Amino acid sequence: MQLFKNAQVYAPMYLGRKDVLVAGGKIIAIENSIELVANSFTTVIDATDKLLTPGFVDSLVHITGGGGEGGYTTRTPEMHINDAIKGGVTTVVGVLGTDAQTRSLENLLAKAYALEEQGLSVFCYTGSYHLPMVTITQSVKHDIMLIDKFIGVGEVAIADHRSSQITSHEMARLTSEARVAGMLAGKVGIVSIHVGDEPSKLELLEQVISQFDIPITQYYPTHINRSKSLLEAGIDFALKGGFIDFTTSTTAQIIAQGEVPAAQALALALEKNAPISQLTMSSDGNASLPVFDAKGNLIDLQMGLVSSLHQAMVDAVKLFNVPIDLALAAITESPANILRLTQKGRIAVDKDADINLLNPHSLAIEAVYSKGKLVFSEGKTFINTPF
Ligand code: ZN
Repeated sequence: MQLFKNAQVYAPMYLGRKDVLVAGGKIIAIENSIELVANSFTTVIDATDKLLTPGFVDSLVHITGGGGEGGYTTRTPEMHINDAIKGGVTTVVGVLGTDAQTRSLENLLAKAYALEEQGLSVFCYTGSYHLPMVTITQSVKHDIMLIDKFIGVGEVAIADHRSSQITSHEMARLTSEARVAGMLAGKVGIVSIHVGDEPSKLELLEQVISQFDIPITQYYPTHINRSKSLLEAGIDFALKGGFIDFTTSTTAQIIAQGEVPAAQALALALEKNAPISQLTMSSDGNASLPVFDAKGNLIDLQMGLVSSLHQAMVDAVKLFNVPIDLALAAITESPANILRLTQKGRIAVDKDADINLLNPHSLAIEAVYSKGKLVFSEGKTFINTPF
């Protein structure tokens, strides 16, 4: 058991100064005062003045690497578990991305199992950017229904020169497949959408929703902060009840080309009254961050980092005046609810004890607990990993 004393608890909504008791990897009590004596079964942690928050939920990470747009040497490496833990991320959703030829879902799943063994919570999407969808079994439906880690399909690319130029009928069929499989398996069955920088923006999704009997909440489009105009379209989508996700990994060059930093995009969306339940940030960790010139030539390539998720939350609070509970919700409760990860994203009794302790002034991460185990403290990780 661990007893956190006197923490300022952000659940992510502010609960006040509380004591939080953890046993067997779960939160079992949150009270004004819990008195227990430290012994060989109980660690008492003085969390006075610390912010106690849920572990962060990163809803899009290329855990087996991504990219390759500049040739084979530009394929990015796998995510190391320490990258996530140091950034306060205790839950990740792993995806393939552009390259489903030299990277596979089998490899994605093996990496997910490895990360889980090492102490992280991991979910995945089947499929990739392209049609026909790659799968492990016979179909997207079988994958979602029969493989526990798969909770949906994606990221399916739209409005992008790297996409399959998917039609509204194809998208409707794929979405129905994921949705029905989700219903039958008690999962979300969501379709993660990679939105590129072509002018059609979210039009394909709007078409599918108006032409077919598919709810808007079946889609989870990401990279919505890629440009000002896409952000505007995204905020409209959120005001109609859709979910939108902002990407926190970026470079100075990408921002110079018109990307809105995720923290600022979150502030703008909230200003336009988009509900926080519809808004999330994810890192796109280990993705390649390619920059193309007007002729489509690759001119720069860097790699996304999972740690950018925490930095964007801090920036939202410090630079763009987003209240801390809302900035936290965008990387905890909102993605957990959207993806129906019922044990994740909240400080509440019976939830998994994924807990971050933050410095109350700088919001720096001082300690991370994943399913009740201390995995990061004072700049050191405590993960059992051979490499
Ligand atoms: Zn993407």
